[in-house]
Amino acid sequence: MEFKIKDVILSEDEIQKRIKELAKEISEEYKDDDPLFLPILNGSFMFASDLLRNIPYPVEVEFLKASSYLNQLKSTGKVNISNIKLDIEGRDVIIIEDILDTGRTLNYIVEFLKNQGAKSVKSVVLLDKPDGRVIDFNPDYTGFEIEDNFVVGYGTDYKQHGRNLPYIVSIEED
Ligand code: 5GP
Ligand code: MG
Repeated sequence: MEFKIKDVILSEDEIQKRIKELAKEISEEYKDDDPLFLPILNGSFMFASDLLRNIPYPVEVEFLKASSYLNQLKSTGKVNISNIKLDIEGRDVIIIEDILDTGRTLNYIVEFLKNQGAKSVKSVVLLDKPDGRVIDFNPDYTGFEIEDNFVVGYGTDYKQHGRNLPYIVSIEED
């Protein structure tokens, strides 16, 4: 292990309970549409898998890999997107993202998808750190608002480690 856990800030039970609520809300809102769910890899793989399992009807899922260039564990706003051949023309897209911090990554992806011809673009984030915001960006669905500390687990990493933890922790800074 490459980091020391400080606190468990969200337990497995808390996360799963909130995800069921989010899935209910989203699936009711989109029940008459044919939405395309778009998890952003790598960080949202676990959240997406639990969220989508709680959508009670068949939906389409595609993946986008976005790497933002981090600077002292903060995104710099330079975002690299792969799978740009994705056909989203006329689709109602729901982005699934792990963490919203400065807002740069999601803002970039939303603009990108609109330019590709999406009919609508909404976002669901598991964690929102409102104090970290640099760009005015509001998610459509939020799991939890948390303080502006670096967190790991449940898909999110510290130097590529810890994505497998089923809960979310804060870590000791070195
Ligand atoms: P933003 O562009 O909104 O600043 O950053 C969002 C991205 O930065 C997230 O998708 C996530 O990958 C990463 N990020 C932001 N805060 C954290 C954090 O506390 N822990 C981890 N592991 N990644 C974070
Ligand atoms: Mg990410």
